[in-house]
Amino acid sequence: MLQIPDLKGEVEENRINTYVCKSCKHLTKTIDVNKGVTPFLNDCVKCGEKATSTFYTNIEPRLKPIQEWYRPTLEECYKYRKNEPLLEHIFQGGLLNRNL
Ligand SMILES: [Zn+2]
Repeated sequence: MLQIPDLKGEVEENRINTYVCKSCKHLTKTIDVNKGVTPFLNDCVKCGEKATSTFYTNIEPRLKPIQEWYRPTLEECYKYRKNEPLLEHIFQGGLLNRNL
């Protein structure tokens, strides 16, 4: 049976990260609901440009997380079976994000 391997000491769950948009400077706050690896770049929710990670710095405590990084289920992975780079990311411990 296919298994998603356990992770080797990456980021703990429930950690808050803030992504700063390079273009419009909008802050996108995220929370890791599972343990895993999150990318350095995220899409800005406001303008769609790239936003860069602040490496789990909660630079604006008044903002609430609007996205969560989560470990997809095997059923969900099956939906991505044609997307090899994405599956590779997941099987190496990468988390996916969705809006809260
Ligand atoms: Zn932006």
